[in-house]
Amino acid sequence: MAIVAPTLDTHAEEEAMILDVVRQLVAEKVEPRAAEIDEKGEFPWDVQRLFAENDLLGIPFPAEYGGVGGSFLTYVKVVEEVAKACASSSLIIAVQELGALPILIAGTHKQKEKYLTKLASGEYTAAYALTESGSGSDAAGSMRCRAERRGDTYVLNGTKIWITQGNVADVVCVFAVTDPSKGANGISAFIVEKTFPGFNVGKVEKKMGIRGSPTVELVFDHCQVPAENLLGAEGEGFKIAMKVLDKSRPGIAAQAVGIAGGALDYAAKYAQERIAFGKPIGQQQGLQFMLADMKTDVEAARLLLYEAARKCDQNAPDITLWAAMAKLKAGDVAMRVTTDAVQILGGFGYSVEYPTERMMRDAKITQIYEGTQQIQRLVIARTLVGRWKPPTSASS
Ligand SMILES: Cc1cc2nc3c(=O)[nH]c(=O)nc-3n(C[C@H](O)[C@H](O)[C@H](O)COP(=O)(O)OP(=O)(O)OC[C@H]3O[C@@H](n4cnc5c(N)ncnc54)[C@H](O)[C@@H]3O)c2cc1C
Repeated sequence: MAIVAPTLDTHAEEEAMILDVVRQLVAEKVEPRAAEIDEKGEFPWDVQRLFAENDLLGIPFPAEYGGVGGSFLTYVKVVEEVAKACASSSLIIAVQELGALPILIAGTHKQKEKYLTKLASGEYTAAYALTESGSGSDAAGSMRCRAERRGDTYVLNGTKIWITQGNVADVVCVFAVTDPSKGANGISAFIVEKTFPGFNVGKVEKKMGIRGSPTVELVFDHCQVPAENLLGAEGEGFKIAMKVLDKSRPGIAAQAVGIAGGALDYAAKYAQERIAFGKPIGQQQGLQFMLADMKTDVEAARLLLYEAARKCDQNAPDITLWAAMAKLKAGDVAMRVTTDAVQILGGFGYSVEYPTERMMRDAKITQIYEGTQQIQRLVIARTLVGRWKPPTSASS
């Protein structure tokens, strides 16, 4: 009887190969640039090109549309590896995914062919525009940006704020109200190119962290969007936006786990080298306890993240819960671990000559964007206790 050779786990092999390449690129090209990217506060086009040349911008996109056809798990591991060294650079990969997700989720074959192929190759850069000055956490309730159909065109008017990469993006997925009488069911999604008449970049924000990732205002002034660029049907925009967040929140959790892991590695190495009271500070039990808690937190967040990513790969029915838990845990861990890393470095931790203060500033955003930590808790709690609706007079 012939011996059947065990099937090679080609997927795991492919992931290991990708991660080897990423670690090498990060060590040689990204990590040495991280402090400068933060200091200059400019989008690092060299890093964007590096990622594009190495096929890192379309990892979970289907091969049919120019992507690697990799798993979501591989994608989050890549974001994590980059974020260990440079949170701003990790966003180049995460926001390409965020901006492409509405097309991946709701696009027609024609829209996918036209846009995903260029996003996968890095020829195009993407952004995702949901937030407005009056609508952040309450994205649906207070949206003002309007889209009105006139013949074969939608005319967009309004302003979006806090749009990551909005000023460097070729393509932005924009959410706007098409029917104000329908609330969340009156919101639609559009693929908007930067060349469309009426597309304008407004204020560029000055920020605490992720300073190499531009965050801008986008102003739509009678912006002309071909009707064929509507994603899904009219009124499906908010549902698309929420489905996107289910798959993009693990990307932010990956960024958070990466930042925390990078800070922990740095602090642990420093604790072995810095001498106080005649021995390395890492031999003081007070710091050992801190390091042990940091390590345990990072690993707990990573396990939650990888499980959420697996759920994304399986399109599991409870993705929303797992994505929210991963983002919540990882964001809080990133903030705590980076703050402790600064503490372990003492005065040097507070200096811009050491990376921990940058990591601490970068960590904060992971508790805010793609739904604040309070919103993640609401999402998680709703799976336990449901969403209460006051009884109507007819039913009471
Ligand atoms: C650097 C940066 C990049 C961003 N990138 C993008 C992007 O690319 N695209 C995009 O569309 N948006 C983006 N955002 C927007 C981001 O998602 C929002 O800032 C975030 O969702 C919070 O909205 P808000 O700022 O309006 O805060 P608010 O909604 O005003 O919240 C203020 C505070 O109230 C709390 N809160 C609100 N509602 C509740 C509630 N029901 N229960 C308990 N607490 C509550 C919040 O947690 C928060 O602490 C970005 C933001 C930043 C800062």
